[in-house]
Amino acid sequence: MAKDKHLHKYRLRNLTRDSSKAPYYVYICAKQECSHHIRIELVEGKVAECNRCGDPFIMKLSKLKHGERIIVKPHCDSCTKTPDRLKKEKEDLKNNIDALLESVLPKGF
Ligand SMILES: [Zn+2]
Ligand SMILES: [Zn+2]
Repeated sequence: MAKDKHLHKYRLRNLTRDSSKAPYYVYICAKQECSHHIRIELVEGKVAECNRCGDPFIMKLSKLKHGERIIVKPHCDSCTKTPDRLKKEKEDLKNNIDALLESVLPKGF
């Protein structure tokens, strides 16, 4: 009964055994005693457990799929450290410092 009372932790699996056929990707739950699986097209908006930090997060197909590439172990936003994100963090930090300086410096400085 309590089986479904957990957040699924997804792993990518290709269900097509025949390599000459188109791959059929699903996310399967990696937890023991759980046979849950879902087509990757259907994960949008579903809550899952992060494969890195274990926190719940909302799955977004746009983040899981990059062209033909699909992320094998989905993880949350804060575990996603893409160069773009690092760049944005730096910019945010710079903006914060600018704002801080503006607030301490006298007007017209
Ligand atoms: Zn599960
Ligand atoms: Zn995480």
